[in-house]
Amino acid sequence: MLHKVLVANRGEIAVRIIRACRELGIRSVAVYSEADRDAMHTRLADEAICIGPAPSPQSYLNIPAIMSAAEISDTDAIHPGFGFLAENADFAEIVMASGITWIGPTPASMRTMGDKVKAKQAMKEAGVPLVPGSDGAVRSVDEARIVAREAGYPVIVKASAGGGGRGMKVVHSESGISSAFNMCQTEAAAAFGDDTVFIEKFLELPRHIEVQVLGDKHGNIVHLFERECSLQRNNQKILEEAPSPFVDEETRQKICAAGVAAAKAVDYVGAGTIEFLMNPDKSFYFIEMNTRIQVEHPVTEWITGVDLIEWQLRVAAGEALAFTQQDIKRKGHAIECRINAEHPFKFTPCPGTIELYHAPGGRSVRVDSAIYTGYTIPPHYDSMIGKIITHARDRQKCIRRMQRAIDELAILGVTTNQELHRRLLANPAFQQGEFNIHFLENWLRQLNRH
Ligand code: ADP
Repeated sequence: MLHKVLVANRGEIAVRIIRACRELGIRSVAVYSEADRDAMHTRLADEAICIGPAPSPQSYLNIPAIMSAAEISDTDAIHPGFGFLAENADFAEIVMASGITWIGPTPASMRTMGDKVKAKQAMKEAGVPLVPGSDGAVRSVDEARIVAREAGYPVIVKASAGGGGRGMKVVHSESGISSAFNMCQTEAAAAFGDDTVFIEKFLELPRHIEVQVLGDKHGNIVHLFERECSLQRNNQKILEEAPSPFVDEETRQKICAAGVAAAKAVDYVGAGTIEFLMNPDKSFYFIEMNTRIQVEHPVTEWITGVDLIEWQLRVAAGEALAFTQQDIKRKGHAIECRINAEHPFKFTPCPGTIELYHAPGGRSVRVDSAIYTGYTIPPHYDSMIGKIITHARDRQKCIRRMQRAIDELAILGVTTNQELHRRLLANPAFQQGEFNIHFLENWLRQLNRH
């Protein structure tokens, strides 16, 4: 097993990883920026090393500083968490070249999945369903026009190297295709240093459904069912659940098998997520793979009983998965609410000092956070300060449990999105499971009008 793990991250995910290490008897090393001297991860780890000033390019994205910290602390593995360097194949390569275990997939799988055109090619070969559109890159306006006409409007022009919802343009009719193509190409070159773009049919009312996979270094890959992540604003998920209230047993088997096929196509090692869009008729299409642990992993942990961070560590150390696909059973329903330090309806960030924090508790309530009374949330990073996860026998009970957990939560001194969750959980369409990826933004528009 590993002896000492450096966590190249901050916030609740760093705390989550440090906790997993402690339970496995592994020493943990936190790295922190000058703004995070009093952060929970800095305090909780066995060792903590300052890696630079507050801005993340000088600290949490500063590879030389992180590698020095690994050397000083005699670390034998690095866990990147999510965000920051988690999907940076160059970083993974540097870690491995230094003789340190990388807790994640191989740089080769990260590179294939990080390039959308390459990823789609690999998925096509593996028989994973793709959104109809161009076969690979589109090189000219003329070609774009032909592909778009064939796919049928509306279409979406996407940058191959895009991510985080950037580098995409929706086009509703042929009059818009040439300017969208040119703009997307120019922007992609400027933002990502790669002007490769491609075209897909724009699905109008899809849901975002993703499949959790886990692979080891011995060729075993399993899925841990799907998650429903359609409740998003600006491509940021707000509330996630497992299983999806929309997916029936037959569709579940198909989409989970597609997830495993996708992971196998890149010899995937560790925890990863295959994202799909699903139409109202339940046809589904691959859009991308996230080659890392995700924010919403706890809902999957709760319905399957599998500790995903523990298995990331075990797999990285070379252990084989101790279970087969047949051993993984689904039990009940889980929901996660992301708690952000931001205005609940205007979404402006609200950093500041937490004067009082009271976490919800009781049966089947889990809180993953990095806050405490007296903690000052720095303005430099993501606004997510924690997550509340509930579990119950069925979805209805799970919603009720989350409603009471959200009511119990008390955070004084800073504004959070608690009220957004309260209203969303009470919404009849949400309660009936009737929503798609546009639901949250449409609903917010209505709320803000009143
Ligand atoms: P990123 O890597 O930037 O997250 P994705 O390809 O995952 O890009 O797409 C992000 C979001 O954009 C999706 O969750 C979905 O809401 C929307 N989207 C992407 N492709 C399509 C499509 N073909 N049709 C409709 N919506 C899409």
